[in-house]
Amino acid sequence: MKSNMKTIRSIPQMQKLARAMTAQNMTIALVPTMGFLHDGHLSLIRRARKLADVVVTSVFVNPIQFGPKDDFKAYPRNEKKDIKAIASAGGDIVFVPRAELVYPVDFQTFVTVEKITATLEGEFRPTHFIGVTTVVAKLFNVVRPDLAVFGMKDYQQVMVIQQMISDLNYPIKLIVAPTVREKDGLAMSSRNSYFTPRQRPKAICLYAALKQARAMVLRDGVDKPAVLKRKMTQVILSICPTAQIDYIAFTDFDSLQPVKRITRNTICSLAVRVHGVRLIDNMKLS
Ligand code: AMP
Repeated sequence: MKSNMKTIRSIPQMQKLARAMTAQNMTIALVPTMGFLHDGHLSLIRRARKLADVVVTSVFVNPIQFGPKDDFKAYPRNEKKDIKAIASAGGDIVFVPRAELVYPVDFQTFVTVEKITATLEGEFRPTHFIGVTTVVAKLFNVVRPDLAVFGMKDYQQVMVIQQMISDLNYPIKLIVAPTVREKDGLAMSSRNSYFTPRQRPKAICLYAALKQARAMVLRDGVDKPAVLKRKMTQVILSICPTAQIDYIAFTDFDSLQPVKRITRNTICSLAVRVHGVRLIDNMKLS
């Protein structure tokens, strides 16, 4: 199938095109990604396709959102395959800027959201969100989208971007798409490609623990975070005895504040290293 999709590598060219499209009253949706796309990413593009005239998908492995011990170098990449997949999901423009263009040598401006970046992911990856908000702010400035689609899998990221949109008065609607999972429940992630076939089944421990927590809340009326956390830890270690749990957190869905009692508005988020691969997942407990 021949596609009319454009691949743009130049920031000024992307900026010019975005302005021209806006001048023609076309609405623009942005789907930011780090590439190595899976069905989760493609579901975001399909959602964007329904909501805007033009869908811009960015593919950029953002170096500044990785910590010194993170997997920036090893992070999987496959640009050719990504471009094909974006075209087949209905994308119009792929924006693939090179890191030297995004962060020239004299780069010195960063965007920080405070408070809500201090917990959960922010506690274990202290420079992560400043990297995310800086690159997303730059993408917003270049692409000038009317809406941006992000995945619920990175729930705290959604909260942080929403805060930035509102604090910095970006005229952008944030759309949140549900987490797409593999058949066994593992949330799709580019990092799942790190697993060997023997390791891969262990990666379901996050989803198994979340399901267990939700069942205990809905079926047995358990409302104590500590009780759920203990059981979830057992479930994780019974599936993967070598797993390292960074956190299991119970927070209010709207404020990201920790809760003392589980309610219908509580979300459970967790980060676990399975055979050295750091996975995150979450589930609303209602
Ligand atoms: P990434 O390439 O990991 O930075 O992700 C790019 C976007 O895709 C983010 O908004 C993610 O939340 C979203 N995403 C990643 N995995 C999934 C998934 N399994 N289901 C839905 N969205 C996802």
